[in-house]
Amino acid sequence: MPEQQLILVINAGSSSIKFSLFEQGSTDPTLLYKGQVEGIYTEPHFSAKDAADTKLADEALPASQPKSHDSALRHILAWLREHTAGRTLAVIGHRVVHGGRRFSHPERVTPEVIAELELLVPLAPLHEPHNITPIRILAELLPEVPQVVCFDTAFHTTQPDVNQLYALPHQLSEAEGIRRYGFHGLSYEYIASVLPGIDTRAAEGRTVVAHLGNGSSMAALDRCRSIASTMGFTALEGLPMGTRSGSIDAGVVLHFLNHLKLDAKAIEDLLYKQSGLLGLSGLSSDMRELRGSDDEHARFAIDYFVSKIAREGASLATALQGFDALVFTAGIGENDVLTRRDVCRQLRWLGVELDEAANAGRSSAPRRVSLPESRVSVYVIPTNEELMIARHALHCLAH
Ligand code: ADP
Repeated sequence: MPEQQLILVINAGSSSIKFSLFEQGSTDPTLLYKGQVEGIYTEPHFSAKDAADTKLADEALPASQPKSHDSALRHILAWLREHTAGRTLAVIGHRVVHGGRRFSHPERVTPEVIAELELLVPLAPLHEPHNITPIRILAELLPEVPQVVCFDTAFHTTQPDVNQLYALPHQLSEAEGIRRYGFHGLSYEYIASVLPGIDTRAAEGRTVVAHLGNGSSMAALDRCRSIASTMGFTALEGLPMGTRSGSIDAGVVLHFLNHLKLDAKAIEDLLYKQSGLLGLSGLSSDMRELRGSDDEHARFAIDYFVSKIAREGASLATALQGFDALVFTAGIGENDVLTRRDVCRQLRWLGVELDEAANAGRSSAPRRVSLPESRVSVYVIPTNEELMIARHALHCLAH
């Protein structure tokens, strides 16, 4: 029997590199290992698990190694080599946060593609450089292995202009790319890919998806294509998140600048790192911790979050002119029973009727949690962005 192809998926940030190793199965790639190096520039730490979540490694990187993305990647590759008996990789897929207007599909990496990615850095200065770094390193370390870039924005390029543009002078969207790009696209694309097997009415109709994690957003899918989303030019717009404010009057930013005399860095820090659930609660950005607290600010932070999800849900349903399904996904969406319950209660007037017993159940499989008579079907569907990247990488390799 021919050896199955190995696909490495890389998701790199400023201080961590996450990886997943897949093997091409009979229909879909199958996960073999996943892990990460965290704290790359502070205390680099490597951990890895197999597909059954059994811990296989949990160790500090040797202090003798330089603290860099390069060292972290070399460590990951060495571990993978040991655990795959030296089998060669068929392809490496990368998560890249921003594809701008240039990339509406995954693409195979070439020197020209890397140069085009560099041009997108100003659109996502906090993330894009860290996505590009491992691509360059791996091109040197493993020049014979093809690489594919997969974008968090690409899935949303199908949105009509009315949902992509801001009400700013037109040339700003054309010349400067000041428009709404969406994000979390690989997660929505994964949900869209499994929806036909779960609910054909929703897949052929209108679905609102709530991706609720540390970063949270929602999207409206019309026949599984994105037509609107809550995140915009950056991943700051829309819902409040773990530490991000979500939508805020741009006048507040002007007030910070002109009256409070905060500089750009301080404002960035405030809006990205000190706001959202953390800012409102004064306690934590983590839903589990907020749920465990009886502090009134923690409760308010959750109520606020829920209220905005419901309001954005109704707004997206308007963009779709009604909705047939509501899908919850990501850390909070998949696990937090009470967020789902309270969002659904607030959307009851739109025909959402939750089956509270089903909603309280636990399963890692996709499941319906609405009553049979509910006009809008509600689902919990675990997302799998890494699998989406592995599929794209293989597809690009074959075409
Ligand atoms: P990221 O956006 O970093 O991928 P996740 O999708 O993992 O984040 O979501 C992290 C969030 O999910 C945190 O707020 C965490 O508290 C929440 N979460 C994870 N498990 C549970 C759970 N069992 N109950 C409630 N919230 C949970």
